[in-house]
Amino acid sequence: MAEKKLSQVEFVRNYFMQRPMQVISHSQAKTDLEAAWLTIMGKRLEDSDRAIRRLHGDGFLEKVAKGQYMYNPDTSGKKEFVEFTAAEKKAILERDGYKCVVCGLGRENGVDLHIDHIKPRSLGGQGTLENGQVLCAPHNFIKKNLSQTETGKKGFIRLLELVRSAPDDPVASQLEVFLLDVLSVYEKHGMNGHIRWDGSPVPSEDLET
Ligand SMILES: [Zn+2]
Repeated sequence: MAEKKLSQVEFVRNYFMQRPMQVISHSQAKTDLEAAWLTIMGKRLEDSDRAIRRLHGDGFLEKVAKGQYMYNPDTSGKKEFVEFTAAEKKAILERDGYKCVVCGLGRENGVDLHIDHIKPRSLGGQGTLENGQVLCAPHNFIKKNLSQTETGKKGFIRLLELVRSAPDDPVASQLEVFLLDVLSVYEKHGMNGHIRWDGSPVPSEDLET
């Protein structure tokens, strides 16, 4: 008898479908899923993280905040809630006067105009008029690259923590000096200040306590 294998992604999908409109943290889902999979299948669930990310990427799961997911049966899998329609694009262009909201340049200045999701799609930003803005191609590019530098900063912080866990290694200490220099450049330019590490400037509200 051929046994139908329950894929891990289906298993994760079922878990969220049984909990509609509940905001579930990534770590809570992971804990529940791993325990249930172990009971049913008798082995470890290999990659629930990837399954959750994939279900979010496919538009099945909504990310309501960082690391917080929700299955909304009304909007799940419906890309029209995420992408702007042609009519919405036109309305946003008209509202913003066919000009980049950052620099004020328009097509008459020779720049291409893009309709940008103010809150990015990857963070659950929807294709609504309120979440749309006109950006020129260069400013759209800069905005995208600001999130690229976030990935870099997180990576350098992770590497720094790793390097510090091997304090007697001369190669590690050399790398630590390099990483501290790189991270100090982020702080010097005020880049991605919301991503904090132990060398971040202390915010004023923390000084009061
Ligand atoms: Zn611009």
